[in-house]
Amino acid sequence: MKSRLGKGAAGPVQAFLDHGADFVVRDTLDSLIDGMRELPGGDALDGTRVRLEVEARDREMDNDFTKDAQVAMLRSARAYRGDRLVRTASPHKILDPKSGPLIAVKLHILTRKSLGGIETDLSGRALGADGQPVPGLYAAGEASGFGCGGVHGYRALEGTFVGGCLFSGRIAGRAAAAAV
Ligand SMILES: Cc1cc2nc3c(=O)[nH]c(=O)nc-3n(C[C@H](O)[C@H](O)[C@H](O)COP(=O)(O)OP(=O)(O)OC[C@H]3O[C@@H](n4cnc5c(N)ncnc54)[C@H](O)[C@@H]3O)c2cc1C
Repeated sequence: MKSRLGKGAAGPVQAFLDHGADFVVRDTLDSLIDGMRELPGGDALDGTRVRLEVEARDREMDNDFTKDAQVAMLRSARAYRGDRLVRTASPHKILDPKSGPLIAVKLHILTRKSLGGIETDLSGRALGADGQPVPGLYAAGEASGFGCGGVHGYRALEGTFVGGCLFSGRIAGRAAAAAV
């Protein structure tokens, strides 16, 4: 907590800045874009577009009535003291040299959650195409249709997946133990 209240990056963030293969840290936007383009696949990056987006966002910092969702949410979050102190940086223009250096992070697509996997019965037994249990095969967690968010149906609640994963694992494990 202390490190989040002070100036500069917290230790884990600084480690990413120093060693992260997907992190680029530079003093100017041009060199930042050059650095991003040097990352694998970075040549697809349209530097002109990046500059236009950054400058457009910075213009909105001067607009008290901005419709820029990110700037508006930042200002809204800071109305609450807790978020003001530890969860948000004080608003500034990205290209303000006093707020440097500039940091770019290459993002990778990952599967955060699945809402459906192998169909099971309520004992975690995997069902085959004929709807019958496949002997000796169980599924739990994300791999199971009922596990994780599947417990909640189509409208899976954020933050509730691990519970369903553990629960479905417990059920499948007990069923497997009972079967041997
Ligand atoms: C960024 C992020 C944030 C999240 N935040 C939350 C949250 O706040 N609250 C919440 O409840 N849920 C959250 N979730 C979802 C939750 O973390 C997952 O639903 C849960 O961890 C899935 O558990 P699991 O055991 O089913 O699968 P996993 O944790 O994915 O485990 C599957 C394991 O199988 C291994 N594996 C894969 N293929 C093979 C193979 N061929 N042979 C052997 N091993 C293999 C993998 O390496 C992995 O260790 C988040 C997920 C992500 C990605």
